[in-house]
Amino acid sequence: MQNSIIYQGPSLLDGSPIVVVALVKSSNKKTGDMVQTYIIRADMDPLKASKYGLDFAVCGDCKHRGEADPDGTGKQAKKRSCYVTLFHGPLQVYKSFKKGNYKPAGDISGLARGRMVRLGTYGDPAAVPSHIWDALLKDSAGHTGYTHQNNAPGADVRPDLTMISADSLQDAKIAWQSKRRTFRIITAVSDKQSNEILCPASEEAGRKAQCNTCKLCMGSHQTAPSIAIVAHGNGAAYIN
Ligand code: SF4
Repeated sequence: MQNSIIYQGPSLLDGSPIVVVALVKSSNKKTGDMVQTYIIRADMDPLKASKYGLDFAVCGDCKHRGEADPDGTGKQAKKRSCYVTLFHGPLQVYKSFKKGNYKPAGDISGLARGRMVRLGTYGDPAAVPSHIWDALLKDSAGHTGYTHQNNAPGADVRPDLTMISADSLQDAKIAWQSKRRTFRIITAVSDKQSNEILCPASEEAGRKAQCNTCKLCMGSHQTAPSIAIVAHGNGAAYIN
């Protein structure tokens, strides 16, 4: 497998042009070595998309996008609480895409054979037709995936493949009513509910695992409790 384009076409969220790039290697400390997939706009860099609120195409109305700030001096949206740093992976992938460094993969069926795959290292998998993910994941070793688009218009939400990202207990309860597993950000360990376990990669759980060995975030494909994680980092300041 080579770094390659596995989808280029309209976003299911708003029709804007997007591209999905699969990267073979990863040195991410939390996930371990997994195939990483970046879902980005094809027509502007991720920082500009954030600043102008045009990242809706790949993130929908996820609140961690922050507030669009077209007239401000900042390079991205204000109060952005997403854990993905835009000028690292997403911007580098966009620049490489524009330089023509990635070629379309062609038949992607089985492309990640034997590997663990992260659906949406940046961007929401539900912005992309899910047959792309089905094909990529054929014969893979497993995957992780998260979506903020539960019940959002146009989104191809696959609760069998992805965890429902919940920003509140109320969001989580709505998903639980439909037997969907959630990945919920909490402010303290004491907020964890009885049907949730702490992410084993988190500080509070003792960093016992990485995603590539844990494999708990595979949606309802995996019959485990829902996952909770205590907010950290810059974004934690903006979590209620
Ligand atoms: S629960 Fe497991 S798969 Fe999910 S984020 Fe934590 S370490 Fe990764």
